[in-house]
Formats: sequence, C-alpha cells, structure tokens
Amino acid sequence: MCEACERRTRPEALPLCPSCWSLREQRVAAAPKGTRLESAGLWLGGLSFIPLPPIVMASLIVNIMVLARAPPGERTKGLVGLGLTFGGLVVTISVLALVFSRDL
Ligand SMILES: [Zn+2]
Repeated sequence: MCEACERRTRPEALPLCPSCWSLREQRVAAAPKGTRLESAGLWLGGLSFIPLPPIVMASLIVNIMVLARAPPGERTKGLVGLGLTFGGLVVTISVLALVFSRDL
C-alpha cells in the first residue's frame, strides 16, 4: 500500500491508485472464505420473508453451512441468518396455510 492510499480518511476506504487496487483484491481473495457465504445467508434470511418455499429452504441450508464452518465465537452472522430464516419460515407457513385454507 503506497503512502497516498495509507493516508485515506478511514482504513476501510477504497484505495486510490490501481496498484493498491490489485493489492486489495489479492487481500480480499486471501480473506477467509466464509464471508461471502455469511452475506448470502443473511440475504437469504431476509428474503425468507417472501413466502417462497425454495428461498426458505436455500436460506436454511446456507445458514446451517455458515454455522457449521464458522469457528466458535464467530457464529453471530450465522445465528442471525438462521433466526431470520425461522422468522421467514413462520411467515411462509402462515401464508401457505392461509392460501390452502381459502382454496378448500
Ligand atoms: Zn496507492
């Protein structure tokens, strides 16, 4: 990282020059692989509130994977994702129950 980029206002701010960009990309690639899965789990957890069973199922699987892979003490995101999923599961079951009871 060059001097100009090190003097950015915040450490997480984006680098200024191309060489530092490539340096940053290397670092991101070397970062723990869980991060992307965790984000996906949180997104899917939020999307679970749309009553679509495939999304809820995918969210459940992804968040369980996040929890299984996360080292102890770093399971917060997985637990939040799983919590969201269960919330979405309740919503989905309620909506489906409502739809089916109306059809009968
Ligand atoms: Zn730079």
